[in-house]
Amino acid sequence: MPLFREILGWSYFPLRFKNQIARNMRREPRFQLRVLSYHDMSQADEVLFERQLRWIMRSWDIVTPEEFAAMIDGDIPIGRDTLILTFDDGTVSNLRVAERVLKPLGIQALYFIVTQYALLSEEDDWQEFASRRIMLNQEPKAVPEEFRNMTITDLQTLLSEGHTIGAHTATHARLSELEGESLYEEIALGADLLQDRLGTHIRHFAYPFGNFESISAKACDVARQRFDYVYTGMRGDNMPDRTSWHLRRESNHPHDSLWYTGACLEGGADFLYSNKHRICGEWVD
Ligand SMILES: [Zn+2]
Repeated sequence: MPLFREILGWSYFPLRFKNQIARNMRREPRFQLRVLSYHDMSQADEVLFERQLRWIMRSWDIVTPEEFAAMIDGDIPIGRDTLILTFDDGTVSNLRVAERVLKPLGIQALYFIVTQYALLSEEDDWQEFASRRIMLNQEPKAVPEEFRNMTITDLQTLLSEGHTIGAHTATHARLSELEGESLYEEIALGADLLQDRLGTHIRHFAYPFGNFESISAKACDVARQRFDYVYTGMRGDNMPDRTSWHLRRESNHPHDSLWYTGACLEGGADFLYSNKHRICGEWVD
């Protein structure tokens, strides 16, 4: 995989050039609408993350989740390549990064929160929860401090700063392993509980793990009924079909090189997911 990433990084400039030529040849230029997905972040990663965002912002508009939703719905035109930032799981590092990196850049992001994680009290063992449900194969004591859960108060701070809260199931379950009532409890009731505690309407949802194997037709059905916008972890441009119940996301990390990040945003890795998107599309008629 490192070799693939290296090659992809080198393809950034050819990909960008090809996309710009293709755009200029169209009578009506069509821009991309993508979602960049991050998780927890150490303090040491903040400098790299800010550098990455400043570089991205030279070619892309970073909009709010509300603006993104309106673009998906076709209510706002897209005049430049556009993306939003999302952060999964609800670790306390997200709060620090929002204050220290996003706020100075004027960025408002979308946070996908695991309800039972956010509801842990001071005395509860957040390391145990994180190792068992989120950072699989990690010993509890090895879970870093930045992975401590954001509390309801922390989430209210994010809301007061203009960020958006989305749902990420009750317990970070792998939904393809569940059926019936369990699916409903994880997806719908988990979000309803978080919504009640926060006093805000939750319209966005991201599947835990996000890969094709962790999603199922039944999970997709429940998510579509509960939420207006449903996000996978599979890469792709959301503009061609603007499918609000099957949104593509680009998983990224502050350590990813600028060229690798840029190449993914130009669609260099989309081909790996096209067949999986097609199968998910067949789940719904
Ligand atoms: Zn997650």
